[in-house]
Amino acid sequence: MRYLPIFLDLQTGPVLLVGAGELVRAKLRLLTAAGARIRWYATSGDHDVSGLDPADAARIDFAQGDPLTADLTGVIAILCAGAGDIGVAMSVRAKSVGLPVNVMDDLVHSTFIFPAIVDRGEVVVAVGTGGASPVVARRVREKIEAMLPARIGDLATFIGRFRKSIHGRMPDMALRRRFWERVVDGAIGALVLGGRTHEAEAALNDIADPSAFAGAQAAGEIQGHVTLVGAGPGDPDLLTIKALRALQDADVVFYDELVSGEILDRIRRDAARVPVGRRVGKPGIGQHAINRLMIEAAKSGQRAVRLKGGDPFVFGRGGEEIEALRKANVAYSVVPGITAGLGGAAQFEVPLTFRHEALRITFLTAHRAKDAEAVDWSTLTDTRMTVVVYMGMTAAPSVRSGLLAAGRPPQTPVGVFARVTRPDARAAVGRLENLPDLVEKIDGGPAILIIGDVVAHSAPWRHQNLNQIISKILEAAA
Ligand code: SAH
Repeated sequence: MRYLPIFLDLQTGPVLLVGAGELVRAKLRLLTAAGARIRWYATSGDHDVSGLDPADAARIDFAQGDPLTADLTGVIAILCAGAGDIGVAMSVRAKSVGLPVNVMDDLVHSTFIFPAIVDRGEVVVAVGTGGASPVVARRVREKIEAMLPARIGDLATFIGRFRKSIHGRMPDMALRRRFWERVVDGAIGALVLGGRTHEAEAALNDIADPSAFAGAQAAGEIQGHVTLVGAGPGDPDLLTIKALRALQDADVVFYDELVSGEILDRIRRDAARVPVGRRVGKPGIGQHAINRLMIEAAKSGQRAVRLKGGDPFVFGRGGEEIEALRKANVAYSVVPGITAGLGGAAQFEVPLTFRHEALRITFLTAHRAKDAEAVDWSTLTDTRMTVVVYMGMTAAPSVRSGLLAAGRPPQTPVGVFARVTRPDARAAVGRLENLPDLVEKIDGGPAILIIGDVVAHSAPWRHQNLNQIISKILEAAA
């Protein structure tokens, strides 16, 4: 992110507008609709405002003279649209006095840019692409437009009217936030969104005890809870809607090292974030300490999220954690996530089951060679079973020897799929006999191994075959 969206208060002073033609008229429409006071230097000398509402036009000061020497006292921003070279000169001047300036379609001479806007009264959504693609920004805006209830702005205005009085009655900030969430998510919010503001107002006034309404048992005795959330393998778009909601509602998030930065970006801004996982070269704080932290957070009334890579119940110790929470009498819920094996299979087109070819799937972990030795490989010899191995990189030689000794053919297709669904995902495919070499190829983990005939249907396998065919053709031609 290079451009930080901020909202400019147009009540605090005039905006200086420089330019002419249709471009400037578009800016006039935008600014007057937003209630701005405008001082307009028409570089063509023509102050044409036809088509503008007369009340809006009344807020325009038709300035005369040279904008390059104009008095800038009190001006809050400078916009140049269709101003030619004067725009560039204006930009130099604005920068020298530290005023924000936008020269239309000229990133070099602008210190701020205009986002695409969703305008619903008090609710305004700004969409930017850093100036890279207005078309993409518009598509995003359309999606948001479609998603937002039409009266969402009315809801914000409604709450704004009651904010102060509720603040006076509920000094506790966490409780207050919960109160407003209940209002927004409940019947009162629905009334406002349905256009029945009077009834909503009556319902809000009827709330005799706002703390009780907020769900408190008694002042200071708020019940917290823990949500175990599966973050999926890395791509933030693979979070479930429930997971996203939990992240947006959280007071504190305890996360593992496997959770990607892009997913951490989805956490509510002012929630506390606590890394509890193992880091490279550093041990984690340990399961016992994690359990204690979660229990303490919930008992102090916080909404805690335990955020884990993939799915919490697939090699994620989620089972142990809810056991500890149960023992401590802490309320909890579990939100599933897409486990790495499924994310990798989807991304690289490995059909984990396939009619007649693969009828069963086994997920297993082989963290260390010792674990691999503990696996009963004789149960994994069915050629119509796909085997997905987690944490299997270092144990890859033992996985190979275990399966070969049990009788799985050395020619069995296998794949190593690293950092799946992340921007730097990689795959290496080959035969069981070469499994450890494939692990070397993918430049580090985390990675899963998939073993079974279905790997021959995968995208990297098809590409590899295609490449081999092409090189054979080229060799023959040479
Ligand atoms: N609960 C997780 C698994 C945690 S165990 C899940 O359901 O996915 C950690 C192992 O998961 C890693 O050693 C690796 O084998 C696998 N893994 C996690 N994220 C991965 C990713 N993005 N790409 C490939 N493998 C991943």
